[in-house]
Amino acid sequence: MSTRALPGWRHIYSGKVRDLYVPDRADEREPRHLLVVASDRISAFDHILEPPIAGKGAVLTALSRWWFDRIDVPNHLADADPAAPPVPDEVRDRAMLTRRLDMHPIECVVRGALTGSGYAEYVRTGAVCGIELPAGLNDGDLLDEPIYTPAYKAPLGEHDENITFERSAELVGQATAAALRDTSLRIFSAARELAAARGVILADTKFEFGWDAAVAGSAPADLVLADEVLTSDSSRYWDAEGYAVGGPDRLASFDKQIVRNWLSANWDRAGEPPVLPADIVERTLGRYRELYDRLTGAA
Ligand code: ATP
Ligand code: MG
Repeated sequence: MSTRALPGWRHIYSGKVRDLYVPDRADEREPRHLLVVASDRISAFDHILEPPIAGKGAVLTALSRWWFDRIDVPNHLADADPAAPPVPDEVRDRAMLTRRLDMHPIECVVRGALTGSGYAEYVRTGAVCGIELPAGLNDGDLLDEPIYTPAYKAPLGEHDENITFERSAELVGQATAAALRDTSLRIFSAARELAAARGVILADTKFEFGWDAAVAGSAPADLVLADEVLTSDSSRYWDAEGYAVGGPDRLASFDKQIVRNWLSANWDRAGEPPVLPADIVERTLGRYRELYDRLTGAA
């Protein structure tokens, strides 16, 4: 995968979708800024697909920013910080200039509905991450109260692992674990209400938090919301009307469902996945845009 060179910045890491850079300064041994650039890459079934979805990175970045503005928790954005190199024009619409934090190794998953890996675990054990749920729930059922189901953020190349709250407290300490849980649930509930008012069900999402050791007197439990937030890559959103009507498409999410469906029908999952046809690329971008427009009222 080729990553573009950005003047003033040094590339340090690429995930499946995002590229990370730090200021390119010889005198800064512990860089205090991080440039998070959302590419147009799309992944499904653990493969990065061809071609990219041109425009996706910008839409997801705009959506993160829109949510950051509405969430009442300190976040990692460091827009136009004069202490950081300027954001290069060529990535301005897809980049977030952030404070580089000490990240907690916990994916703070909140579920307002039972589906995906949570549903699979429930079918096997009757519980999700140690939280017992009533018997007889079906895939996609909304939960009366959202639940917090943390995952341990596995080191590179390993799969994240669902854990209990108690396990998360062993990993980061009781006070920090409780703050991660309570803050995640609070953000989720507010976001879910806001989405509902726009005809969209926020089914589940994942937050990541860090803390800023450079802030005098700060402690790990002084959480700073980081990473992307409430995007269609980190969350499941369903159309409320379609959900109410029911049927096979009631859980059609505003993300790469179109791509997953096409791949399932056109690929046996062995070897390299086929190149996506132009109309699938276009419809997928349309779906990302539609979510953005619905939520932000831009339509
Ligand atoms: P995947 O491709 O499975 O998503 P990944 O999570 O490693 O892999 P990205 O999500 O692209 O890849 O990488 C973003 C990384 O940056 C994450 O590890 C996240 O924890 C980290 N991160 C996000 N914001 C900050 C921040 N402000 N300070 C430090 N690290 C951050
Ligand atoms: Mg990630």
